[in-house]
Amino acid sequence: MNRKGYFGEFGGFFVPEILVHALKELSSSYDRLKNDNEFNMELSALLSRYAGRPTPLYFAKRLSEKFGGRIYLKREDLAHTGSHKINNALGQALLAKKMGKTRVIAETGAGQHGVAAATACALLGLECEVYMGEVDVERQKLNCYRMNLLGTKVITVKNGSKTLKDAINEALRDYAASSDHTHYLIGSVVGPHPYPAMVRDFQSVIGRETKAQILADTGRLPDSLIACVGGGSNAIGLFHPFLEDKDVKMFGVEAGGNGVHSGKHSASVVAGAEGVLHGARTLILQDDDGQILETHSVAAGLDYPAVGPEHPYLSRLGRATYVAVDDSKALFAFHLLSETEGIIPALESAHAVAYAVEHARQNQNEVIIVNLSGRGDKDVAEVAQMEGYF
Ligand SMILES: *Cc1c(COP(=O)(O)O)cnc(C)c1O
Repeated sequence: MNRKGYFGEFGGFFVPEILVHALKELSSSYDRLKNDNEFNMELSALLSRYAGRPTPLYFAKRLSEKFGGRIYLKREDLAHTGSHKINNALGQALLAKKMGKTRVIAETGAGQHGVAAATACALLGLECEVYMGEVDVERQKLNCYRMNLLGTKVITVKNGSKTLKDAINEALRDYAASSDHTHYLIGSVVGPHPYPAMVRDFQSVIGRETKAQILADTGRLPDSLIACVGGGSNAIGLFHPFLEDKDVKMFGVEAGGNGVHSGKHSASVVAGAEGVLHGARTLILQDDDGQILETHSVAAGLDYPAVGPEHPYLSRLGRATYVAVDDSKALFAFHLLSETEGIIPALESAHAVAYAVEHARQNQNEVIIVNLSGRGDKDVAEVAQMEGYF
């Protein structure tokens, strides 16, 4: 990445002038604090004593026996609030506090990031408001209540398609007007510089722990890393500490929805075109006029029409490979991991599991690490309903 936040031709800083001041202040504060001992010690204490890190690297013995390979699961599902999102929420909330901000805003689609941000703000005594599209508020009532319970106010967004991308636009507008006392806590490796690099750094704890754990357990590096990609934060968090280890293969698994050829999916690297969205140049699901397409995935957390800019960069370099797994295979893996290992995965993570067992079948001798980005409790009622259980 160069100084202006480009990963090759992707990334950058495409924002209205009114946001430039806020983002420059954020960049320089982050550049200073990321090398500050006290900041890093405080953050790592929060991650260990509050969020439950390090999360285990678990050898999935029965799954491996069934499909081949040696399949390990990095258990982000065991982190506080049930996914990797808490790593970034704690990092940015602590940064906001050190910057002297008293208020935090965030966007949320399915509500998972909203809950993580609300949690971090409750912990650190920061006022928190979360932007959420009206359609999502209706679909995710329980997560709205969770945020309220944590002391956060949910602001309903009624513009555009009334979903995540509109919530991000509103949050950016708020931030432009309020950045003297407000921090905008983005939930993935998306948005203008410095967010893609900053969120990656906060999530890289996943890959650093994984590397130490696999070396301790097997005395060698893995052959393949596999993670689901929505905005791309859990994937880049796992991949980043291994980028220089040229023999380690990396696979990002996007949401294939009803199939990439159906047009109803969220696979931006596999099927997107170059453009600018939310302040960064990246791959986007758009029509010939540049209008953002409606996306679909059974996993609400993968339902975003673009991707963090470092992923298209790694894809073009050939350093990481991106594939799409459709809804039906993800649902199969949701059941498979539950029955085989006693772990109900988040539907997002189930995409990575589905690809991992396919990969293991074809590469019988590999050490494979899957990022189990979250737990499936949040999805159980929806899947039961889809399957006609009630
Ligand atoms: C939000 C979420 C994702 C997708 O976000 P990334 O930024 O791509 O990691 C994946 N898994 C779970 C469990 C999530 O909550």
